[in-house]
Amino acid sequence: MTRVVLASHNAHKLEELRRILGPLVPGIELVGYDGPEPVESGVTFEANALIKARAAAAHTGLPAIADDSGISVAVLGGCPGIFSARWGGPARSDTANVELLLWQLSDLGDEHRAASFACAAALAMPGGDEVVVRGDWSGTVLREPRGADGFGYDPIFRPDGEERSAAELAPAEKDAQSHRRRAFTALADEMTRRLA
Ligand code: IMP
Repeated sequence: MTRVVLASHNAHKLEELRRILGPLVPGIELVGYDGPEPVESGVTFEANALIKARAAAAHTGLPAIADDSGISVAVLGGCPGIFSARWGGPARSDTANVELLLWQLSDLGDEHRAASFACAAALAMPGGDEVVVRGDWSGTVLREPRGADGFGYDPIFRPDGEERSAAELAPAEKDAQSHRRRAFTALADEMTRRLA
């Protein structure tokens, strides 16, 4: 088994990525990371994913993967984007983030509420080789939260082709089509090439 470190202190994300990557990249053991977290000073999802993966590879001497994600609303020029986690203020609370976004869009009809989730997934090798890929999931911002599954902006995001919000999808249904699934499916090919 080749050990690969996930550059995140989030145990929920470790489980989710074990589920996604396990079948796609056999022969790797995805391990958690408790080293120092770098400043995410990039201005794109891709740059921030690379910053996190690079820091974990340098600290552990292992191949490292990382992701950076958020929601981009067309009429807001792509915001919250990389500021998604802190959109509603310093508390970084999902509730505050969602409330602010709904309030900002409150006067707009459905035709002006297009949005997409984005996820950049990066792999950094200890020797310096690195790659980053991206997955997107397009949809519409709803008028009020719906559903109890999921996290973050899921309750106010209705994916294209769905009647339900992302928080009304079962976790496996979300996993099958999400931005994170798309990014890590693409990264799995790169991992297989480098780690086989
Ligand atoms: P991070 O990449 O885990 O730091 O997430 C950045 C921000 O985007 C947080 O506010 C998350 O709640 C939000 N976000 C990222 N992915 C998703 C998702 O799949 N559903 C809902 N919110 C998400």
